[in-house]
Amino acid sequence: MCPVSDKGLVLVVEDEPAIAELQRMYLTREGFGVHVERDGVAGLAAARRLKPVAIVLDVGLPELDGTEVCRALRAEGDWVPVLFVTARDDEVDRVLGLELGADDYVTKPFSPRELVSRVRAVLRRTQGTLAQPALSLGPIRLDPETRHVTVDGVDVGLTVTEFDLLLALIKKPGRVLSREQLLSQVWGYEAAAGTRTVDVHVGQVRAKLGAAGDLIRTVRGVGYSSVRP
Ligand code: CA
Repeated sequence: MCPVSDKGLVLVVEDEPAIAELQRMYLTREGFGVHVERDGVAGLAAARRLKPVAIVLDVGLPELDGTEVCRALRAEGDWVPVLFVTARDDEVDRVLGLELGADDYVTKPFSPRELVSRVRAVLRRTQGTLAQPALSLGPIRLDPETRHVTVDGVDVGLTVTEFDLLLALIKKPGRVLSREQLLSQVWGYEAAAGTRTVDVHVGQVRAKLGAAGDLIRTVRGVGYSSVRP
């Protein structure tokens, strides 16, 4: 069963027992409660039942694969941070390309320390914006305290990463941020994830904002900025 922890419960969904055990060991050592499931159907049920603070989700799973588990949660309006664990480069493309709202990913073989630091980083981000005032840009309104974004008063469901990216970009309209600056400000670590990750997430934020997505501009060869309407 899952031990009680004040850092919250992390759900691990992993079908390889040795990897699941390693993840459990390192996350427990870090002070998280850990609950492990071995297939996608059980993982999805556990996510709904236990409401974890984060999910470490293998992509290749029996019953229902990790991308489908994530898609089902997002469709229900559940924006729990998801860290995907992928085995191959083509899985990375699927995870990043399908607008699944992955907050981050690690590729097997990964160092357990790296995994733990990614989980910590994503949680630090969700907890680090509480004292900031609400911001708006044109029809976009973003409230760091509730982590809600609306466009013309209509709720937009953003992942933790998408929210932080939008926050970084609209904090100072007109200021250009390079991909490397966004990686370190939003993801909280240096360029290991690659600047392609930034492009994919910016694309998803724009798509979710609809017409207001035009307020996020690509500055060719440099990075991104927001502009006043
Ligand atoms: Ca697997």
